Amino acid sequence: MTWGAKTPQERGPIVASRHPDSFGKRNAIGAGGGSYCIYHALAVAIGDLKPNHLPDLSLTEPAYNITPQATWTAPGKIVSMDPWGHAVVEHFSEQLQQGIDVRPTIAVTKAHMKLAEIDEAIGKGILQRDGDVVTENGELKVVKVACRARVVPARTPVACIPELITRPDLKVFLPPIGGLTVYIFGNPEHITDPAKRLTMRVHDECNGSDVFGSDICTCKPYLIYAIEECAREAQNGGVGVVVYFRKEGRALGEVTKYLVYNARKRQEGGDTAANYFKRTEFVAGVKDMRFQALMPDILQWLGVTRIDRFISMSNMKYNAIVGSGIEIVERVSIPEDRMPGDAKVEIEAKIADGYFTTGAVPTADDLQAVKGRNWDEIVH
Ligand SMILES: [Zn+2]
Repeated sequence: MTWGAKTPQERGPIVASRHPDSFGKRNAIGAGGGSYCIYHALAVAIGDLKPNHLPDLSLTEPAYNITPQATWTAPGKIVSMDPWGHAVVEHFSEQLQQGIDVRPTIAVTKAHMKLAEIDEAIGKGILQRDGDVVTENGELKVVKVACRARVVPARTPVACIPELITRPDLKVFLPPIGGLTVYIFGNPEHITDPAKRLTMRVHDECNGSDVFGSDICTCKPYLIYAIEECAREAQNGGVGVVVYFRKEGRALGEVTKYLVYNARKRQEGGDTAANYFKRTEFVAGVKDMRFQALMPDILQWLGVTRIDRFISMSNMKYNAIVGSGIEIVERVSIPEDRMPGDAKVEIEAKIADGYFTTGAVPTADDLQAVKGRNWDEIVH
């Protein structure tokens, strides 16, 4: 296997399997199942899953044909995912027929999305049904791309597995981490068309808000706003893209997040924007562990060269994307009326720390004055 080779055949398939017919062909180490690898092991241990099971990949090919981009083979452009990860059946059928266990790391499908918040937006006239992007039933038509445990070529500093140094036959590391999902609203072909506008949000998972509606942060309202803006851009002849990364709680996880919430609410003087990052640093040692440097790989893979409306205030995401050579024309803050009750502490602290704003950057005194809900106001 030659990482970055010009064609998938020259590059060769990524084989992480310990299947007897694949063992001698193995060129990758790590967790093929990403963060679910332990469940895979348990399923084998209790006898539910045959250790030699080979997936039947017939009919699983992408529901939308992603056109190969120059970035897929450009040196150093994409390092944290397999650009051919969705096209295993197309390009490695010979190996599959030989019984070699080559597994897709990317899957592309189509769906309709039904969200209560989108129904509400239609009801308020924020979004219109057009029978195309938004169906008559108020569903959003979407092309979805799931990217599993991303691959990392050996020798990058992320790959700290000793075998990658001592075993030259192992060229790729499959990290045991969660992946990402891309939601495309409108015609995906417009993503690479410089004549078409692109609205985009890169969102990092926040289960407490995204799924369960916690009001201590802006995650879900910002995500919903981005989905509305993406649909609207698609209706205006452009395209919208939301990328959802499984990087819960700034990649620190929910346990750390809740420990920090407790410390924030209990500290002397209450939950102030002034101490927002300090409390995370006290518990986690850092204020953020998301490592955005590899994030733009998915944008490079999609062929993005310009983002007309970037629905994010994050300076870290902005810098990573612009640093990868993609132009960002306009940055869009979360509208004031979308801000949840207890989220002011987070957003003001982030703005003071460098997040984008069209308003004034708060001073140290301002941050002292921005207070969240007191602990005793949370009645259970
Ligand atoms: Zn959140």
